[in-house]
Amino acid sequence: MSLPLILAVDDDPALLAAVERELRTRYAPDYGICCLSTPADALDLLEQRTQAGEDVALVLAAEELAGAPGSEFLGEVARFCPHAQRALLIGWENLGVPETGDAIFEAIAQGRIDHYVVRPAPPPDEQFHQALSSFLLAWAEARRRASHTIEVVGETWSGRAYELREVLGRCAMPHRFHLAGSEEGQAVLAGTGPRKLPLIVMPTGAVMEDPSNTDIARSAGKELDPSGDRYDLVIVGCGPAGLSAAVYGASEGLRTVVIDSGSIGGQATSSSSIRNYLGFQRGITGAELARRAFQQAWVFGARFAFMQQVTHLSREDDGIVVGLDTGGVVVAGAVVLATGASYRRLGVDSLEALHGAGVFYGAAASEAPLVAGKEVVIVGGANSAGQAAVHLAAYAERVTVVIRAASLEAGMSSYLVHQVEGTPNIEVRTGTEVVGGGGDGWLDHLVLRDRSSGELEKVGAYGLFLMIGAQPHTQWLPPTVERDAAGFVVTGSELGDDAVGTFGRRPMVQETSIAGVLAAGDVRHGSIKRVASAVGEGSIAIQSVHRLLAV
Ligand SMILES: Cc1cc2nc3c(=O)[nH]c(=O)nc-3n(C[C@H](O)[C@H](O)[C@H](O)COP(=O)(O)OP(=O)(O)OC[C@H]3O[C@@H](n4cnc5c(N)ncnc54)[C@H](O)[C@@H]3O)c2cc1C
Repeated sequence: MSLPLILAVDDDPALLAAVERELRTRYAPDYGICCLSTPADALDLLEQRTQAGEDVALVLAAEELAGAPGSEFLGEVARFCPHAQRALLIGWENLGVPETGDAIFEAIAQGRIDHYVVRPAPPPDEQFHQALSSFLLAWAEARRRASHTIEVVGETWSGRAYELREVLGRCAMPHRFHLAGSEEGQAVLAGTGPRKLPLIVMPTGAVMEDPSNTDIARSAGKELDPSGDRYDLVIVGCGPAGLSAAVYGASEGLRTVVIDSGSIGGQATSSSSIRNYLGFQRGITGAELARRAFQQAWVFGARFAFMQQVTHLSREDDGIVVGLDTGGVVVAGAVVLATGASYRRLGVDSLEALHGAGVFYGAAASEAPLVAGKEVVIVGGANSAGQAAVHLAAYAERVTVVIRAASLEAGMSSYLVHQVEGTPNIEVRTGTEVVGGGGDGWLDHLVLRDRSSGELEKVGAYGLFLMIGAQPHTQWLPPTVERDAAGFVVTGSELGDDAVGTFGRRPMVQETSIAGVLAAGDVRHGSIKRVASAVGEGSIAIQSVHRLLAV
């Protein structure tokens, strides 16, 4: 089997030579290197390679190639090798130039490129190689070739084998799955001997037959039984808000434990690229962000208890008592609730496959420039959907709001209903639902169903925004924790006067109706549902924790 390919294309011989030198000196032992001067030759080569079943890891292209934008060529590359990472080489002098930034944004938004990188300076240019390493890591993770990858072997894709993959995903643990009958599955089983399936083989070589979720967490050294202990701070939930609270709490000397019913990262682990988080100019996968934050908190001294659900919370004389589904109990000086929320899913498989490629849960504001001049569909009839429709209508050619109910009035404030109805390029389709759709790498159509007649209609759509409600993970909380109508935890100045009476003081920022229990991130009423906001709230909560513990 030949080495995976790194291909660079540039019609300027001197610039191409500089890139080739860097590629050969650093990557030749592990990758095939090829440098060409025309897009046509490059596409021919890619076609041959992929027909031969060979892998292409990375394609780099000049900003301009044969008088056309290099991003056009990189867009073509995806036809042959959809897993290859594609990056535009830009001149250092173009960094910060508005037109270059706009062109990169558009090319990324339209899926023609994955990244950009500044052309290499004379060696050693560690920044160039740091960027290339991150592209190659993204490719390796997508191809399940990352180091320390766990092997999973099962008889079918579904059932317990699927559950194991799901748990590993929630643990942000790189893994790859093989059917037992496949060549790769047989190769793994040859090393383990006959075993009960499904099984997993850890990077250490340890084999586990049909492990429980807790076994998986324990095997990665990530399981702690916190019961019976007392901590300054118990954080419930290990998404971005909980991880941030852990970093700040532990680094500021608090004895801290984070408990999660899954593992690290929360919702963020399902994001393939977070592009709007400060400091990650080329984006970062949610899993990688979570892994980094976990290690940061761990080294500061935070402890983690995974695969353990918090089921009980009460304020007792000696502190706040947190009950676990294992039957264990932990006592805390203060608690941060960071249990997040999940968007209700639409449940249409072909559309779930296009999540992030034209199909979005919430997040309308940041995606708006993407849909300029295009057809957009919003599913949902609450205020969030109304606001998104008005916002997107300023960009899109046409916005169609699809609701199951007979009218918008059922779920939307009347001022918004008027705004929606008064916007010429918004159409509302009542009594309708989205039942299908698809596209080649990006959404291009939806199938709508009229709920009364059952009639199906195929409509063109470039963007689908699903705003069918976020469900906070708060069902387990006692009734004494005040929540809004949707179940989000009410905090701080939004608590009624009762809280002042009970506490004998004003509630602190992010403090819930139980003194000493704070909320951070998506679970909090009024929170902005973003990674950065969750991280911010996690850190702010720690300031209140210090004040609470000092009392
Ligand atoms: C697909 C997708 C893509 C996204 N992309 C972006 C993006 O590009 N940019 C951006 O800014 N935002 C994005 N978001 C939103 C962002 O991920 C969330 O705003 C953020 O994760 C919220 O963090 P959190 O810590 O408040 O909650 P969560 O991430 O929801 O984490 C909550 C954690 O609490 C745990 N938990 C829940 N209940 C219990 C319990 N009873 N006991 C123990 N543990 C419990 C859960 O297992 C989970 O790990 C995206 C969201 C999704 C779903």
